[in-house]
Amino acid sequence: MGTAMTCDQAVKMLFAYLDRALPGDALEELERHLQACLDCCDRLQFSRRLDDFVRDRLGDTPLPDGLEARLRERIHAVQSSRGAS
Ligand SMILES: [Zn+2]
Repeated sequence: MGTAMTCDQAVKMLFAYLDRALPGDALEELERHLQACLDCCDRLQFSRRLDDFVRDRLGDTPLPDGLEARLRERIHAVQSSRGAS
């Protein structure tokens, strides 16, 4: 086993990280990687914002492929139904 996590591994863990579902060891490793890797840091910031955004507006909806188009549809639907009431 290597000591450093790869970006690929880090990215896969980001979602669990955002859900606070990582065990302590993995969490430490990921945070170490994030401190050293600007790319993954950016991804985390982005994912975090997206996560907040999605939770805010859509609740616990899983993220499908074609994410952006689907998000726009859902947001539009939510806005319309709010506007209608
Ligand atoms: Zn990385």
